[in-house]
Amino acid sequence: MTNSRRNFLQKLTASFIALPLLSTKSYANIEKDITGIFYDGPVLRVAIMGLGSYGTRVADAIQACTKVKLVGAISGTPSKLTAWQSKYTIPEKNCYNYENFDAIKDNPDIDAVYIITPNALHKEQTIRVAKAGKHVICEKPMALNAKEGEAMIAACKKANVKLLVGYRMHFEPKTLEVIRMRNAGEMGKVLFFQGLCGFRIGDPTQWRLNKDLAGGGSMMDIGIYAVNGSRYMVGEEPVWVTAQETKTDPVKFKEGVDETIQFQLGFPSGAVASCLSTYMMNGLDRFYLNAEKGFAEMQPSTGYGPIKGKTNKGELTQEHKTHQTVQMDEMAAIILEGKQPIVPVDGEEALKDLKIIDGIYAAVKSGRKVSLKL
Ligand code: NDP
Repeated sequence: MTNSRRNFLQKLTASFIALPLLSTKSYANIEKDITGIFYDGPVLRVAIMGLGSYGTRVADAIQACTKVKLVGAISGTPSKLTAWQSKYTIPEKNCYNYENFDAIKDNPDIDAVYIITPNALHKEQTIRVAKAGKHVICEKPMALNAKEGEAMIAACKKANVKLLVGYRMHFEPKTLEVIRMRNAGEMGKVLFFQGLCGFRIGDPTQWRLNKDLAGGGSMMDIGIYAVNGSRYMVGEEPVWVTAQETKTDPVKFKEGVDETIQFQLGFPSGAVASCLSTYMMNGLDRFYLNAEKGFAEMQPSTGYGPIKGKTNKGELTQEHKTHQTVQMDEMAAIILEGKQPIVPVDGEEALKDLKIIDGIYAAVKSGRKVSLKL
């Protein structure tokens, strides 16, 4: 559907159908969904917090969603709020800054807030959004460590709101086909996973290289894809981790900001994973799964796509769809309809990754194998 037609339909929907229902939790979005089927189910009305590079990508992707509407924005930059109001037709009354966004609790037109700010802010912002009674979608990494993650989960439980984390790969069709094959036994017993995730980072002044805002270095940002990917590709939870760090540029990568970490995970079945997380090598985006009767090879494996890959059955041919559009429609179904995703995307799922990352940093520090209890 073209943007102009979509905008027209949205305006039509808002003015003729939705307005009388705006005070209810959600309202119907009368149009066709991505399968071409007429959709008049509930719509999740989302505000984005943090109008940066990924926030903008998500906002653009939401324009093609059936079950999600971008209705609000929270930012520390007034000029961005003005620009978003006109670009995405967001009413001024749904715009907030970081000081006053607790008032969102009195705004019946917003159901959920998608937090897309630097990592160190996720915990406090999630707890505030939960206290305001709104569902939380939070970007990865959910927090800086497991302790923070636990506090976020507890706050959302207490407020009776959902906490989801932006694991867009959990809805990616080629990834899901590999998971289906593995679960169906089409590859036999899984023996080994390799995850290589990295890029060469630029500007040394960006928040990603500031420990206070990032909570670490490449591991928090890109290595987490190998951590999470190990779990969904192997299909088990790891029980131990070993890790080694190397640093070639201690000026750019200061104390506590990891440049390159290699880590290994052991799983209950005896399967092992060997992974690399780096801010120093370009174009590292590869997953390889080895099993007794088959394999899966994906490259790129976690970028914005299209994901490319093959298995022992041949090329993966599932259609590419914008990850964030699919993610948001699926998350709306989880929040509004209680849909169960094939791979979880909730706070508990993200907590497991944080426990592994805690273990990786502990293993780097001690040089020892660390036991994991997920
Ligand atoms: P950006 O730097 O592009 O944007 C972050 C935004 O957060 C800023 O533009 C700003 O928006 C807001 N912000 C609030 N406080 C600060 C602060 N102290 N310093 C800097 N920015 C601040 O980062 P990204 O959008 O790339 O990343 C944001 C989050 O999204 C991270 O947690 C990251 O890991 C995650 N991410 C996830 C991806 C995925 O594929 N799932 C891909 C990329 C990022 P404003 O001016 O509106 O306040």
